[in-house]
Amino acid sequence: MIRYDYAPEQIEAAVNALDGQWRVRAAERTKAIVKKKRFDESSSIWSDVKPVFIALQNRKCIFCERQFESAEYGRIEHDLEHFRPKSAVKPWPPRNWATTYTISTGAESPAGYYWLAYDLGNYAAACKVCNSPPKADHFPIADKRVTTKRTIARLQEEMPYLCYPIGRYDDPPESLVTFIATTAVPAARSTSESQGMRWFAGRSSSRARVGIRQA
Ligand SMILES: [Zn+2]
Repeated sequence: MIRYDYAPEQIEAAVNALDGQWRVRAAERTKAIVKKKRFDESSSIWSDVKPVFIALQNRKCIFCERQFESAEYGRIEHDLEHFRPKSAVKPWPPRNWATTYTISTGAESPAGYYWLAYDLGNYAAACKVCNSPPKADHFPIADKRVTTKRTIARLQEEMPYLCYPIGRYDDPPESLVTFIATTAVPAARSTSESQGMRWFAGRSSSRARVGIRQA
C-alpha cells in the first residue's frame, strides 16, 4: 500500500474541473445535515465525484488495491466509499462473527460521522467486495469515538485501525504495513513503540484491510 500524496486543494481542484458547482451543492447539503445532526437524505450526489477518486487512486481499490474495471471483474464494480460511515456505525467485529478482540474497537454510534457525508477528505473509491462486508458501516478505533462535529485532522485522535492512504492526515501506509511476497505483514519494526504500533492483518486474497493499533 502506498500513500496518494495529494493536498486537499489538489483534490478540490480536480472536483472543480469535473463539476464547478459540486462543492457548492455539497456545502449546502452539509449545512442541512449538520443542522439535523444526522444523515437522512433520500438522494445523494457523492457518486458524481467518483471518477475523481478513481483517477487519484490510479484506478485501484483503496483497501485491496485491486485494479478497477478489469475484464475479469467487469465494469461496474466500484463504489465511492465513505471512510468514516455517514450514518450508524456498527460494532466491530460484527455480532454474527465468531471473532472477538480483547482490545477496544470503539463504541457503536447511531448517527455516525454525519457531518462528513460530503467531505472530500472522507471519500475513497473501493471495489464492491471491500465496500460490502467487512467494511460496510464499520469503523473500528482504539480510542473513544467522536460523535460531534470535528475536522478530519482532529479525528485522528480516535486512533482508527483502518488506514486512509489519501492525503496527509494518516500515517504513511508504508510505515504500517509491508509485504512478504503478496502477504501483508506488520511493518511494526519501523514504528516507534513509544508512539504505539499498528498491526495489519492481511487476507489471503487481498491486501491489508483490518488493523489493530495498541498503545
Ligand atoms: Zn477492494
